[in-house]
Amino acid sequence: MKELLLNEIEEIEEEFLPDDIERKELDIPNISRRDVMKHFVRLSQRNYGVDTGFYPLGSCTMKYNPKLLERVASMEKINYTSPLQHPSTVQGNLEIMYRLEKALCAITGMDAFTLQPAAGAHGEFTGMLIAKAYFEWKKEKRENVIVPDSAHGTNPASARMAGFNVIEIPSKDGRVDMDALRSAVDEKTAAFMLTNPNTLGIFEKDILQISKIIKDAGALLYYDGANLNAIMGKARPGDMGFDIVHLNLHKTFATPHGGGGPGAGPVGVKEFLIPFLPVPRVMKNGDEYELDYGSKLSIGRVSRFFGNFGVLVKAYAYILMKGGNGLSEASSRAVLNSNYLMEKLRHIGYEVPYYGRRMHEFVLSLKNFKERGVRAIDVAKRLLDYGFHPPTVYFPLIVDEAFMIEPTEDESKQTLDAFAEAMEKIFHEDAELLKSAPHGEMGRVDEVKAARELKVTWKDLR
Ligand SMILES: *Cc1c(COP(=O)(O)O)cnc(C)c1O
Repeated sequence: MKELLLNEIEEIEEEFLPDDIERKELDIPNISRRDVMKHFVRLSQRNYGVDTGFYPLGSCTMKYNPKLLERVASMEKINYTSPLQHPSTVQGNLEIMYRLEKALCAITGMDAFTLQPAAGAHGEFTGMLIAKAYFEWKKEKRENVIVPDSAHGTNPASARMAGFNVIEIPSKDGRVDMDALRSAVDEKTAAFMLTNPNTLGIFEKDILQISKIIKDAGALLYYDGANLNAIMGKARPGDMGFDIVHLNLHKTFATPHGGGGPGAGPVGVKEFLIPFLPVPRVMKNGDEYELDYGSKLSIGRVSRFFGNFGVLVKAYAYILMKGGNGLSEASSRAVLNSNYLMEKLRHIGYEVPYYGRRMHEFVLSLKNFKERGVRAIDVAKRLLDYGFHPPTVYFPLIVDEAFMIEPTEDESKQTLDAFAEAMEKIFHEDAELLKSAPHGEMGRVDEVKAARELKVTWKDLR
């Protein structure tokens, strides 16, 4: 019996890699499994993630991703289904999408959502295609999309990709310049794309007036809701007058992201734009969930199937886990953490342009460091030596030497204090020390080269 078993095992080993697919010319070391494991685990530990430290990357909402969500998304009934299955066999999956859509409507004040877009930028592009289809249907020739100069770079890119001309307007005191907006809007305006709170973390308090200007001109108001983390359960873009919104589920609704990982950028619209949404739409008929391909005005599909379903499941589970009050509380804490940290850094001497209350994030200007020959990138790199992931740098573009910090709701006071302490030390440090940072395991890398000449290898190339 024992022998038989051993024989079988040998056979399996032999069959494991057929000769004809084995590429002998590859220079792969022949080492034990244990050594392979040690190598890759060691490499992974050199990586920095939300589960290993503070990650205040502004505009990216690197919040804690509850591990329970991974378990839910990898449950057999969810993970082992195919988008090609007949709807009658995946009723549960359709129900999740249906309910997620309803939850997002409740959170944003919109009337319907498509869950297909796979990222924020993809959502923007989808939103712009909807705007285009709408005006084509109305037989109105509107070719311009207006964006403020504080906009995320994807906004003008998405509008352009959808075939619109992009008109940029300046900001005033960190908000939309109302006069500039008034003079940019005319009968050729298709949409105004706005982030609120904007990329400086400032709430656009004139939003109702902005909405009126856009509506009076017959144009659409587009909401970049990538970062909803300040206003969940507090204010709704739908109530502010937005006609189209996109959300980043991977940011606000707790899916691990970065490094190009799967995301979801659902797009919500007001009632009058529902016919233009991508198909199929998940509808409920009695107790049955169905796929509806009916609308003749639909822009069609923007995803081969239903989008990144795993991300949708995680977002829905996160919403259920938090509940309405929990989401609202998350926003309160995100805003509190951001203002607490901003005040601490301001007291050290860091400059906060357009100083005032902030929402979920704030932006410093490190332009005074330039006198010493130090730039924002140097301070960012130096933070690595103190064990912190750097904030976003050089965005938004309207702030000189921008340093954009988003602490998120999950960080403790101790963590924020420790970060402020590191920032205080750095504030007084020698210019040469900063300019040559980081001094740890890896020195300063040439980022452009690293991005352009990616070397994917098992080798330790240091
Ligand atoms: C992250 C972000 C986007 C783009 O989202 P992706 O998922 O990276 O495509 C758009 N707008 C704002 C304000 C963002 O922060």
